[in-house]
Amino acid sequence: MATDGIFLDANENALGSVSDERANRYPDPYQREVKDALAKQKKVNPEQIFLGNGSDEAIDLLFRAFCIPGKDKVLTFPPTYGMYSVCAQLNDVEVLEVALSTSFQLNLKKVEQVLNPSIKMILICSPNNPSGNSIEKEKVIWLLNNFSGIVIIDEAYQDFSSDPSWVSAIDNYPNLVVLQTFSKAWGMAGLRLGVAMGNPEIISVLNRIKYPYNINQNTQQQALVALQNVEKKEQMVHTLLKERSSLVEALNSVSIVENVYPSDANFILIRIKNAQKIYEALLRKGIVVRNRSNLVGCTECVRITVGTTQENSILINALMEMG
Ligand SMILES: *Cc1c(COP(=O)(O)O)cnc(C)c1O
Repeated sequence: MATDGIFLDANENALGSVSDERANRYPDPYQREVKDALAKQKKVNPEQIFLGNGSDEAIDLLFRAFCIPGKDKVLTFPPTYGMYSVCAQLNDVEVLEVALSTSFQLNLKKVEQVLNPSIKMILICSPNNPSGNSIEKEKVIWLLNNFSGIVIIDEAYQDFSSDPSWVSAIDNYPNLVVLQTFSKAWGMAGLRLGVAMGNPEIISVLNRIKYPYNINQNTQQQALVALQNVEKKEQMVHTLLKERSSLVEALNSVSIVENVYPSDANFILIRIKNAQKIYEALLRKGIVVRNRSNLVGCTECVRITVGTTQENSILINALMEMG
């Protein structure tokens, strides 16, 4: 019998698994194959990659590694992804906030006023959730050059953007960490796989403090399959981008829709009359969107994920009837 060895070291079940799929061996804690494949595609070194149980794990570990609870602070730009402040609170790290402008861009004058040595990390989401736009490159560069802590750029929606990724900049900025995920464009949210890319010193800290087997065998296998099928991702992105422009056009023609914000993501933020009522009315029809009205700068705003042609047209018809 051909075998790689006789593994009697980890107290696994040598007979196999009760589940349908064979899973009796622990997965590779270093995720070497996945990292090699991903490194090739992203044109980085495997040592510049951390893989997490979703990018949410990477965010949490960055807080745990680089912020002292009760002392250090982070800077965020609302309205933005809720997980940043959730992780901050869990880790007893104070969040300083500088609201984005009315066009959801960085306000550097205000940033300059609040920057101080207790701030250890700045979290930028680009394209930004929930506004959908990309953050202007020049302003990010200013931050990278003028802030000595870690600048995290969350690119969960980068595949849908017309702007280039920041990944190619990690060699030039040792304080830059770029987050990406398999949850959106790759369509693998259920498998939980997030990526942090940055200089090897930061990445090695994350690798040392993670749980040893944070990426399970199934996820590693599926990620390898996916990485050999980039065309499929690109095809889906292409389709979703076409759907997005149709949806933008249709939303613009709905009378109760007051503003359709430009989107570089797979969702669209709209301002609509009586957002809460519309949200509830859609819910009664089985259409689930996200009411973002309570966020800074998002009064009467609803966030809509781009769906299939059919889903989008059902949504539009429902909104037309409500007008
Ligand atoms: C969806 C999303 C993520 C993805 O999180 P995962 O844990 O990788 O699923 C990260 N950041 C933002 C801004 C998101 O909207």
